[in-house]
Amino acid sequence: MTASAQTASAQTDFAHTKQLFHLPEGVIYLDGNSLGPLPLAAPIKMQTTMRDEWGEMLITGWNKAGWMAQPTRVGDRIARLIGAEDGHVVIGDTLSIKVYQALASALELNPDRKVILSDSGNFPTDLYMAEGLIKSLGQGHELRIVAPEEVEDAITEEVAVTLITEVDYRTGRLHDMKALTEKAHAVGALTIWDLAHSAGALPVDLAGVNADFAVGCTYKYLNGGPGAPAFIYVAPRHADKVEPALSGWLGHDAPFEFERSYRPGPGIERMRVGTPPVLALSALESALDIWDMTTMQAIREKSQALTALFIEEVETRCPMLTLASPRDAAKRGSQVSFRFPDGYAAMQALIARGVIGDFRAPDIMRFGFTPLYIDEGDVTRAAAILEEVMTTRAWDAPEYKARSRVT
Ligand SMILES: *Cc1c(COP(=O)(O)O)cnc(C)c1O
Repeated sequence: MTASAQTASAQTDFAHTKQLFHLPEGVIYLDGNSLGPLPLAAPIKMQTTMRDEWGEMLITGWNKAGWMAQPTRVGDRIARLIGAEDGHVVIGDTLSIKVYQALASALELNPDRKVILSDSGNFPTDLYMAEGLIKSLGQGHELRIVAPEEVEDAITEEVAVTLITEVDYRTGRLHDMKALTEKAHAVGALTIWDLAHSAGALPVDLAGVNADFAVGCTYKYLNGGPGAPAFIYVAPRHADKVEPALSGWLGHDAPFEFERSYRPGPGIERMRVGTPPVLALSALESALDIWDMTTMQAIREKSQALTALFIEEVETRCPMLTLASPRDAAKRGSQVSFRFPDGYAAMQALIARGVIGDFRAPDIMRFGFTPLYIDEGDVTRAAAILEEVMTTRAWDAPEYKARSRVT
């Protein structure tokens, strides 16, 4: 550990940051990797935005309250967390849309190649969006999917762009962003990094690894709230070259000239599409205030300690569960997954006892660890409750086996 990481850790008061969230009584929340909890300041900030800005300013809020600049202003705050250059991240739309945009732009920058490379651990929407884009382009592109451990060798001179999620959503397995980006560039391919389970989970150094594009969401580790908008990063060297596939009016160089033809705006502005979600961005801004109190180095250090403790506790208490995440802390993100054939029912029984994780088909029980509001006491209590569920087979009851729409 470097001296600066030690200082950062000493400077982050995690007992204080925990006080800044609404955590329901009797709940240990290990699902902040799917939906972060409510920052206590968010409803107050949203009320101000609604009453004093929307209510009082009406349409003049676009100028007076700075709503129009919000997507890049908030983008800069996220840039700090993912090692991006200032002015090269913008917020808006959903992550699925941002994947589509990044992919369309990357293919256009590498027109002589037809292969999009991804891996079988990727989240389905990324792959669905790639297939949809291939169909609309109708230029004979191919989506090539290999096993996660085969990605490096599969980056060949045929590949136009890699579409890789850094942290596997099921197992937490971490790809080597630096090595894969170097390999891609060595053979003339571009890279899109999906940071859905990285932003707010571990340090990311987009500028340092020379990434081309990155996308991610803000409702997971960043705590922006359900449906909070996504972000996109375009490297400075590409930002004025990409031709947006989703050429919406707010990505236009002069939206209020209402010109007949589309002209892309400067740099990252062109990745905007339509009207920004001002209320959602307001909640996200109050979540980001908490991120200003820490550094990603401090988060990583604490997160590795929490995940290691959980693995140790669960392996001691629950021999029937099989670790699905990498044992080496350097090779996993901020989550721990265990396999169990009746994982869905076991997770439901656990949730009924106040420990909230989630289930990912076919057999993964997933637990997210988020230093801003989870501490060692939560980890050992959660492991003890899990032990009770597993050793008594409390999960083996009909009420835990009926699947809900969201798992
Ligand atoms: C969570 C997640 C998504 C979700 O996409 P939305 O459009 O925000 O619903 C996409 N990709 C990955 C890798 C994810 O983990």
